[in-house]
Amino acid sequence: MSKQIAQAQKIKKSILSLKFVAAAGGLLVILAVVLYSDPMNFFSEKPITPPVDAPYTKAELSPEVRAQDLLSYMTLREKIGQMALIEKNSIIKNEDIAEYSLGALLSGAGAKPTDNTVEGWRKMVEHYINTSKQSRLGIPVLYGVDSIHGHSNVPGATVFPHAIGLGASGNSELVEEVARVTREEMLATGIVWNYSPTLDLPTDIRWGRMYETFSDDPKLTAKLGAAYVRGFEGNGATKAGLSTLKHYIGVGSMNWNTSSNENFLIDQGAITADEQKLRDIYLLPFKAGVDAGASNVMVGLSSWGDTKLAAEKYLVTDVLKNELGFKGFTVSDWYGVYEIPGGEYVATVKAINAGIDMVMLPFDYKTFIKNVEKAVKRGDIDEARINDAVTRILTTKFELGLFDTTPQNQTTLGSDANRLVARQAVSESLVLLKDDSNLLPLSQSPKTIRVAGSAADNVGRQSGAWTVEWQGIDGNWLPGSTSILKGINEVASDDIAIEYSLDGTFDKASAKSPLGIAVVGEAPYAEGWGDNPNPTLSPEDVATIENLKQHSEKILVIIVSGRPLIITQEIKTWDAVIAAWLPGSEGAGVADVLFGEKPFTGSLPLPWPAAMEQVPVETDGTTADGTPTLFPRYFGL
Ligand code: BGC
Repeated sequence: MSKQIAQAQKIKKSILSLKFVAAAGGLLVILAVVLYSDPMNFFSEKPITPPVDAPYTKAELSPEVRAQDLLSYMTLREKIGQMALIEKNSIIKNEDIAEYSLGALLSGAGAKPTDNTVEGWRKMVEHYINTSKQSRLGIPVLYGVDSIHGHSNVPGATVFPHAIGLGASGNSELVEEVARVTREEMLATGIVWNYSPTLDLPTDIRWGRMYETFSDDPKLTAKLGAAYVRGFEGNGATKAGLSTLKHYIGVGSMNWNTSSNENFLIDQGAITADEQKLRDIYLLPFKAGVDAGASNVMVGLSSWGDTKLAAEKYLVTDVLKNELGFKGFTVSDWYGVYEIPGGEYVATVKAINAGIDMVMLPFDYKTFIKNVEKAVKRGDIDEARINDAVTRILTTKFELGLFDTTPQNQTTLGSDANRLVARQAVSESLVLLKDDSNLLPLSQSPKTIRVAGSAADNVGRQSGAWTVEWQGIDGNWLPGSTSILKGINEVASDDIAIEYSLDGTFDKASAKSPLGIAVVGEAPYAEGWGDNPNPTLSPEDVATIENLKQHSEKILVIIVSGRPLIITQEIKTWDAVIAAWLPGSEGAGVADVLFGEKPFTGSLPLPWPAAMEQVPVETDGTTADGTPTLFPRYFGL
């Protein structure tokens, strides 16, 4: 017996026990109770059948007109289904997608099809879309993924530098092109929705998501974020793809040790920015993204004061929708709604009333649908709010042309042309931090170069997390990819002997080489798993550099990392240093700049602290202890 039936019977018994209730009156009351709770759904509204030529089926009508028309035939339950975003592995049986009229599905990072190929993805996604079209009104499901540095979910895709590297390039045309290629590769797998770009503005190098951001500069982030939206969504009559501005709002300004997730330290923590700061700084990139035409905004998992962002009516409805005029739909982040205190029912009511249009549940859709239905019947949520949310979702689906065609194209993932865009992005993302003896660019004249380090010959490390797996991969098994070492081998002239050793030890009897290149840095991490009280080089990397010094006259250190690391002491003994961020699959882009095929043009997208006492560094460059950073924002030789 369900909880609701039990509850209805309990109420019924207690009413009958009141002896003075006349039989007829009593029956009326019982009927009212049953009607009110409607446990078996006997009294649910009768579905309205649309005419065969209903306006919503007509591609020539505007998305707004089509959405209004479609809405008029929908039952409450169908509307609520549209507001649910479910992780594909949580679908109990595929027919549920149509039965519950689910609005959207996602592959949470690492949730791939059994056949993890382009074909495997396309078949899986098409199957979900076709199933959704079996629903009474044939509403197609939206499918979303995090292709935050290319469609890196699929082995063989072009993996671009993570956003922090694109921030170092400062190049909005490049970012637009990166977004366009990402969308093309996603479309080859039938997916139109990308949970990107991230517009957070980070202040603390201890945060495990720094590399997902372009910069701590609101203006640069606004410029690159808008470029990403233009590139991803295109400028045709229908939207070519759906990008997501995330994570609204204030994310990046969290206080250390305030995470609401017991496994994390700062990710999902409490936002320090007050309203003025939110408006003056954190809102700018979102405004730029909305102005560029973005139709989706993801609300963050952090809290503002005591309130979880997903319950922040003022910020979500008043500021984003009413003040900025955002006409698209909002989506909550992973399980974020249920992190609002008060239990699932209360949390759901609060989030929807705050202005969340689609809920990334992402697990249990049945409870969600029941809860929202109950809330509407009780008057806890106004049906007008549901209609508003669903109108926004449907309008976006019409804007994407989902009712008229199945998303697809014939692009080859990881084509030469696409990899060239990524290789260019890698070159533009490199920041030269030190070059005391003018080592760079390296000459192509005969010599020996010794290469070493944990990230020298490891595409997994240079790609960082959100690459096939949520927490990234280890090793060189991505088809078509080029490690930094391989890139150096490709670009160096044949007269240069390249010797490699992982830990920097070479034949002791041999003469020192004129140059040693140490490629060191961080192993991949995603989200709060990368929260780190003290981001520095690992003891192994330090030892590798020391070993290499024994075998080379000069040392160039290439740092592969998702954030600035504290290197203040070590850097003194290095001749040259490059911040390479997380370049992705095209390691040759590093070699192009090393050998002068392309110039150094990158600059630091955020300040590089000298010591942990300086952290956090405010977005205006003010350090916590007032001392100057090792390198300021926009430094680059
Ligand atoms: C992250 C989002 C991401 C979502 C879906 C969440 O954990 O915070 O950035 O888009 O998962 O994978």
